Amino acid sequence: MKKMKYILVTGGVVSGLGKGVTASSIGLLLKACGLRVTSIKIDPYLNSDAGTMSPFEHGEVFVLDDGGEVDLDLGNYERFLDVKLTRDNNITTGKIYQYVLDKERRGDYLGKTVQVVPHITDAIQEWIERVAMIPVDGKEGPADVCVIELGGTIGDIESMPFIEALGQFSYRVGAGNFCLIHVSLVPVLNVVGEQMIDPLFASWNKLINWPMNFCHLVYHVQKTKPTQHSVRGLRGLGLTPNILACRSTMALDDNVKEKLSQFCHVPVRIAIVGKYTGLPDSYLSVLKALLHASVACRKKLVVDWVPASDLEDMTEIENLDAYKAAWKLLKSADGVLVPGGFGDRGVQGKILAAKYARENRIPFFGICLGMQVAVIEFARSVLGLTDANSTEFDPSTRNPCVIFMPEGSKTQMGGTMRLGSRRTYFEVMDCKSVKLYGNRRYIDERHRHRYEVNPDIVGRLENAGLSFTGKDESGQRMEVIEVPDHPYYIGVQFHPEFKSRPGKPSALFLGLVAAACGQLDALLQGFESREKVNCEIGNGPSNKKVYQNGYATKPANIIRDAIYSYCNGLSCTVI
Ligand code: GLN
Repeated sequence: MKKMKYILVTGGVVSGLGKGVTASSIGLLLKACGLRVTSIKIDPYLNSDAGTMSPFEHGEVFVLDDGGEVDLDLGNYERFLDVKLTRDNNITTGKIYQYVLDKERRGDYLGKTVQVVPHITDAIQEWIERVAMIPVDGKEGPADVCVIELGGTIGDIESMPFIEALGQFSYRVGAGNFCLIHVSLVPVLNVVGEQMIDPLFASWNKLINWPMNFCHLVYHVQKTKPTQHSVRGLRGLGLTPNILACRSTMALDDNVKEKLSQFCHVPVRIAIVGKYTGLPDSYLSVLKALLHASVACRKKLVVDWVPASDLEDMTEIENLDAYKAAWKLLKSADGVLVPGGFGDRGVQGKILAAKYARENRIPFFGICLGMQVAVIEFARSVLGLTDANSTEFDPSTRNPCVIFMPEGSKTQMGGTMRLGSRRTYFEVMDCKSVKLYGNRRYIDERHRHRYEVNPDIVGRLENAGLSFTGKDESGQRMEVIEVPDHPYYIGVQFHPEFKSRPGKPSALFLGLVAAACGQLDALLQGFESREKVNCEIGNGPSNKKVYQNGYATKPANIIRDAIYSYCNGLSCTVI
């Protein structure tokens, strides 16, 4: 069955920012994209419903088909989305407590101490899941998306159990099924500054003995601090916004947007140490696979391209600046990726990068040639075989640890590459690569190589601590290596980047990004139950209907595009 997507709209800084209109507009835009939408309004007050509340304090009491007296926001949803909601689509603290207390009186908790966490928080999650499934548009079956608006402002005592419940809920339904939009305020202050007046006036001032050659100007400054604080508050409570919707009296300046998006997403720096770093298209699939993984980890990807040969000793002599720049980039990386390649240019630099990552416990992922250099480096540094090499680069090496090993008969050696999908069997089950692949016994990944790890040296490498976790069916071709006591040091003979998809990130790329941002343990623990990012939301044509409402400072299709870009792996968009 298709998974329900949830969009939570929260508000920060002050009340009355237009959360309801933001939530309704998003719902309408998704509907315009062809999706079926339902909505839930959470009111953290203790009243069971709005029936007993004065319109002076709370505005109109909206009446539903089933007789429910509810918050006026449900009226907005009904009008915007043209749906028929039920009284249960309005959750209040009063209703939740009533429900839990009734259960307690019935003896449903079997002698347990009834507490806010987990009993109230569980009840909130169950309520949301149950109500989200109720069809509200006259069609059969549940909607595709449920927009949840959390009333009040982040930090209110009343909303704490809901925030806690929604944090747990986001984890339960999975990153790809939950999107948080935080509505915030960007106030504009008028700041007075001085500016030198025109030289013509200055000479006139001189003539009349006027001492001031400055005039006062009023600047409009957009302040991001309130939004920063409210995002911090939200994060402190376990929720990270994917999109910020900012209300301001002026359109936001680009630098303000940049500033806001920076603290909204923590970048992950991954250094790609390659030969064609000036031509990023040469590594397009690798880049896309990193992007898919970053979206799944909810991180903004920052790739630093490190020209492999600039890391080499020769560059230190010939071009010290380039050498220093390359090492600076490598040393500031949270993760190191060495992609595939052919020919010996830059190989020594890649070996140095692999050594740096291994010794300094920086997450490392080597693909094809990247795995081969990791093996060469291990043989040189750990086994002490200083001339260990691949016969691709040094045909006469005394310690060939990577050799030409054609798949077919030896008579067909000329120009043969091992190409396309081949099966890898996992031999060691208790290792990161297997866990990341969902504990499967075997996987099928694509290949493109001629050289392979020399099976004759595998035993020595294994004794020295390099684990060969995956092999082909003959057990002779090494497919996956791992350094078990390293936070993340994995190499693969295949190219997993070719099978990575938005919403289905490739397992070992996901592992690299997660390790680089400190999420690997959590990922490995919850891997099996974890839902992956999926881009079903907002995949309608972008030229559908543009809806403009009274609050948004920009056409509302930007909101839809923001959701769409989020789901497609772009970083946080500020509206
Ligand atoms: N040059 C190496 C080989 O042929 C690695 C190839 C690659 O990285 N695609 O085996």
